[in-house]
Amino acid sequence: MSTTGSNPGTFSFESTHSLAPSAQGLGRDGRRYGRTGLIHTPHGDIQTPAFIPVATQAAMKAVLPEQMKDLGAQALLSNAFHLFERPGEDVIDQAGGLGKFMGWAGPTFTDSGGFQVLSLGAGFKKTLAMDVTGMKSDEVIAEGKERLAFVDEDGVTFKSPLNGSEHRFSAEISMGIQHKIGADIMFAFDELTTLMNTRGYQEQSVERTFRWAKRCVAEHQRLTAERAGKPYQALYGVVQGANYEDLRRKAASEIASLEFDGVGIGGAIEKRLLGQTCAWICDEMPEERPRHILGIAAVDDIFAGVENGGDTFDCVSPARCGRNGAVFTRDGRWNIKRTQFRRDFSPIEADCDCYTCQHYTRAYVCHLLHAHELNGYTLATIHNERFFVRLLDEIRASISGGYFDDYKRETLARFYAHGSKG
Ligand SMILES: [Zn+2]
Repeated sequence: MSTTGSNPGTFSFESTHSLAPSAQGLGRDGRRYGRTGLIHTPHGDIQTPAFIPVATQAAMKAVLPEQMKDLGAQALLSNAFHLFERPGEDVIDQAGGLGKFMGWAGPTFTDSGGFQVLSLGAGFKKTLAMDVTGMKSDEVIAEGKERLAFVDEDGVTFKSPLNGSEHRFSAEISMGIQHKIGADIMFAFDELTTLMNTRGYQEQSVERTFRWAKRCVAEHQRLTAERAGKPYQALYGVVQGANYEDLRRKAASEIASLEFDGVGIGGAIEKRLLGQTCAWICDEMPEERPRHILGIAAVDDIFAGVENGGDTFDCVSPARCGRNGAVFTRDGRWNIKRTQFRRDFSPIEADCDCYTCQHYTRAYVCHLLHAHELNGYTLATIHNERFFVRLLDEIRASISGGYFDDYKRETLARFYAHGSKG
């Protein structure tokens, strides 16, 4: 059991059970960094590993905070960039912080805005798990997209996708915005790269991210002192470095050298290297710092991430998939809008304990989504978010119960038995 030294009583992490070393261990000497634990925040505890649903604009799309609590969500993650654009961080500060503003009493996270700002640079939404065999260019942008963001040593200049007005983001600006938003856990402003960037650019980017990280810590400490009396906000440093072991290790030890409360594992990671990348980073990190893996929710990726040290995970995918009719079940992911479900009066998943499955049929959800009825989004999202929250609850129980490997094998075999995506 350990706690972060810098802020006892306000934010801390204790680990409770660890995975035993195994032949599949990807860390030094076959270590496996997977563990259960408890993150203490001023707005309550998070039992880890945990899935953190994404309430991008201080709202889960189509689902109320009360319903998120009922389905077992322990914390929500919002996006600093979107909230900066609308309604503005001052409004949220005046409201008493993000949780109060959106009517969520539990812990909250904000990401730094770096992902959104820098995604404008290439026009790519998705940077994780891309297959980019044979493609390398620092200048490539998505077809038909205007380049909207430019990185320099000090920060990023970008045009707002809302109204085209020009803005700057930097380490200090991101910290100022995130302090006003007031989430319990924030992320340092980092430079996002994609797997398309060259090795040379990745090296420069890791260096720049470290310089920005130092500035984030300094500004964070200044703002924490200036805003004394507000609940303590924890800051996680973000490790970049794409697929390169030496860069990931270097970035991790640099982030470890700074006074961060935790670490965010971010950036471009090829799917097959996800677990290995986490293990490289954990090798270089003090164990008492909690680790968040940014933006993953494929079922096999979650297992790889947990096994190799991930404590918390966020992703928009369960909600986004749900709105498109893609539902996650123990037997894989499939689309509820298919014709075969028009007269299927069974629940989405027979043994699911979510509100949707307890009250509604496949036929009804199928109908609502075809009719673009808003309740269709609500019901599909509730089921999918419950799926991922429960998956992490079960993984947590399997680690503390000593049966993680069996649980992983059985769950993955069943989920992917029919060639399911996700
Ligand atoms: Zn359900």
